[in-house]
Amino acid sequence: MSKQTRKIYCCGCNADVTARLTTGAEVYSHRKDLHTLPFWKCDTCRNFVGCHHKTKHRTNPLGCIPTPEIKAARQEIHKLIDPIWKSGRVGRSELYGMIAHVMGVERYHTAEIKSIEQAREVYRVARDIGASL
Ligand SMILES: [Zn+2]
Repeated sequence: MSKQTRKIYCCGCNADVTARLTTGAEVYSHRKDLHTLPFWKCDTCRNFVGCHHKTKHRTNPLGCIPTPEIKAARQEIHKLIDPIWKSGRVGRSELYGMIAHVMGVERYHTAEIKSIEQAREVYRVARDIGASL
């Protein structure tokens, strides 16, 4: 078992935790296609996050460690915002910039959403932007 660890914010623990590098064979045992992919797991609450595995830094985490509830909320946000930028009415980075501006943050990234409240706010903001385009 891997001993590599890394400090990552964990939404389940509401804290920076020492996450452990593992693979899909552990966290997605029923998904053989994911078995070789890297994941960071919080051994306290057992939640985990995937990595930018297609890049040269293949174990860089996608963001903080989400709970299943936050993961589902992020997927809802993607279902809302992906069609907006894919429509070509606005570029992806432009749309993300608009969301960041309304949220009052420097940069917005869905993988950095840390709570359900934050996810709801992003959803509301993105819906309003989508309606205004
Ligand atoms: Zn945790």
